[in-house]
Amino acid sequence: MSIEVLSVTKSYGNQLALNEISFSANKGEIIGFLGPNGAGKSTMMKIITGFISPTKGTVLVSGINVLKSPEEVKAKIGYLPEQNPLYQEMYVKEYLQFQASIFKVSKETIGAVIETVGLSPEVHKKISQLSKGYQQRVGIAAAIIHNPDVLILDEPTTGLDPNQIQEIRNLLKKLGKEKTILFSTHIMQEVEAICDRVIIINKGELLIDTSIEELKESNEQIIEVTFNYKIEEQFIQRLPNIISYKNNFDNTWYMTFNSSEDMRGVIFDFAHENGLKILELNSKNQSLETLFTKLTS
Ligand code: ADP
Repeated sequence: MSIEVLSVTKSYGNQLALNEISFSANKGEIIGFLGPNGAGKSTMMKIITGFISPTKGTVLVSGINVLKSPEEVKAKIGYLPEQNPLYQEMYVKEYLQFQASIFKVSKETIGAVIETVGLSPEVHKKISQLSKGYQQRVGIAAAIIHNPDVLILDEPTTGLDPNQIQEIRNLLKKLGKEKTILFSTHIMQEVEAICDRVIIINKGELLIDTSIEELKESNEQIIEVTFNYKIEEQFIQRLPNIISYKNNFDNTWYMTFNSSEDMRGVIFDFAHENGLKILELNSKNQSLETLFTKLTS
């Protein structure tokens, strides 16, 4: 196990930021860490990396206790904080050499890392002269310079343009082949595109810890239907396999079904049999986005 978080609680004074959080990450997994602002994501990441201590609980990284052996853990972990703290006046190479010197990394390794993160064309520039996307690569290069087993990245794609986002995603995918990566993001498609697993927290509570595969296999279907006139709730309840429903506007219903059968056909038959017309129908399969909204709103 690369990361083990065991019943971690963190309070800032009276404010409970994390409440008895437990999860683990296997070697080579890429995990998306999701939650609304203030959910506790950054706090959890700072605890895993040993930057702050939990109020209660234990974290093990590659089997090493973060509280008991912080220095040993720092050698196993690479961390990109939310505000990527770069020395703007340093040259890219100079900054990475400085980072490498902390871990006694060889010159050849620095060159290889520059290559891996695609920084070669910009390597002779000052950090302040780089675009935000390239600055992010410098942060990631600094995080992996000592070849850690585990990477913790706090919103690595926030503030980047779509091309830069794609480039950083490709980089994470590449790095994820060898390393365990836990990263936070607000972009659900990012998690669906590159992660093996997703963890959602809200208000310091763990809400879900599931594999992306399981999520895609879910039988839950969310269908929004607008009929040609207002119908009663009792009527909607007669639809088979319906597990919840909400009347959005007068004639529009937002319905959740649990069925392996495509419920759109069933709804069409139901409408026809009852002399109703469907003016609009939208099917939203159980995507991460719908799950996130359902769990956190
Ligand atoms: P997220 O990264 O999910 O946005 P944070 O971990 O930053 O969430 O914050 C979780 C909660 O803890 C928030 O309510 C935040 O205001 C609070 N918090 C975070 N850091 C501190 C701090 N240093 N002092 C007091 N409260 C804090």
